[in-house]
Amino acid sequence: MSTARIAFVDHAPFVGGAETVLLDLIGHLDRSRFDPIVFLPARSPLVRHLDARGVPWRNLPMPRINVRSPTALLRWRRASSELARLARDCGVDLVHSNTVRAHLASAFVRDVPVVWMLHDDTFPHWLFRRLRRRPARLIANSYTTASTYNLEGDPRACVVHNGVDTQAEPGTRYRFRRRIGIGSDKVLVAHVGRLVRWKGQHLFIRAAARVAGEHPQAHFALVGTYTEGDDSPGVPSALLRAGLSGGAAYHAELQRLAQSAGLGSRLTFAGHQDNIADVYAGIDLLVHASTRPEPFGRVLIEAMAAGLPVIASAQGGPTEIVEDGITGLLVTPGSSQALAEALTKLLADASRRAEMGVAARRLAIERFDIRTQVARIESIYLDILANRARVADAKRG
Ligand code: UDP
Repeated sequence: MSTARIAFVDHAPFVGGAETVLLDLIGHLDRSRFDPIVFLPARSPLVRHLDARGVPWRNLPMPRINVRSPTALLRWRRASSELARLARDCGVDLVHSNTVRAHLASAFVRDVPVVWMLHDDTFPHWLFRRLRRRPARLIANSYTTASTYNLEGDPRACVVHNGVDTQAEPGTRYRFRRRIGIGSDKVLVAHVGRLVRWKGQHLFIRAAARVAGEHPQAHFALVGTYTEGDDSPGVPSALLRAGLSGGAAYHAELQRLAQSAGLGSRLTFAGHQDNIADVYAGIDLLVHASTRPEPFGRVLIEAMAAGLPVIASAQGGPTEIVEDGITGLLVTPGSSQALAEALTKLLADASRRAEMGVAARRLAIERFDIRTQVARIESIYLDILANRARVADAKRG
């Protein structure tokens, strides 16, 4: 078979889990069989990552407005025609919608098969019901996401969990610590994620404040930043209501909270870190405090692959990832008290942390390696392309 050109369509205005998945997927694709190209808005922050890796991309302007707004349909129609033109010009064999919303541009592509990857639960369900029939395959990143969209029983749908490169070179333990000025004597606990309310950084701060006095050796860090304009009027109101927004306002609120909780120099706002491997190598414990069911929770498998124990909310994706009491602790969602209790257990017990870290890495290697994820997605592409070739042959002959 000659190389198949796969066009990945991505819409996110930030580099989140779905974009990291995309970069990893492209990085591990079998290039003797697949030739990737990415269609995305030229202003996307993903562009510099693609350039750094030498991955070709084309500008596909996509609106960032409420799908119910009167002009939305028109703008998406424009994006959709542009995508069809790009697909023709670039000789695309298969389109992979990488973000749920980007699929609005791919949904009406007629000449090539489309795979719709579902990484999150933000797509309006009324619209999903209209669009779900057309893609050749639907891939959910977790059983949680699959059930959000009622994919159970659909023969074209499957779950492919995220993977990370468990064989990658680990980060350097002291680089991140040095960057934030934390010595080797401290137990460093971090929350890694975008600064958006539903990621629960405020709960992390409250829990840290509860345990800080009892554990003077502990230091806390928030790793991640907010997206400019996340709290602007352009953000769909449903997202705002769901606490999906963040922006400078949430950042400022967190700073005030840390101040009033008396955490002072015990908490660092580390901002966005490009070298996340150094972060995991530098910390001792990862906390994930999402207040609504996380569709997957990629930071958990990244931390586990780095041999870290994790504390996570007992709902959504994390329950498919963390083995409670073995690779980490699952806690009642939305409760800073429950988070504080889990923190106390693990801060007080270095050998339990070490045991959990070993078990976490083992589980990451067994279940969440990038090679397994990519092999499954490649076999889906091959299946679709073979089917298409059969249909074309039948038509000809
Ligand atoms: N991330 C990063 N630097 C940071 C904070 C986060 O590179 O400072 C990455 C993190 O390693 C992970 C992704 O952003 O790959 C977040 O993915 P997740 O699925 O946890 O959350 P999402 O942002 O997609 O909701």
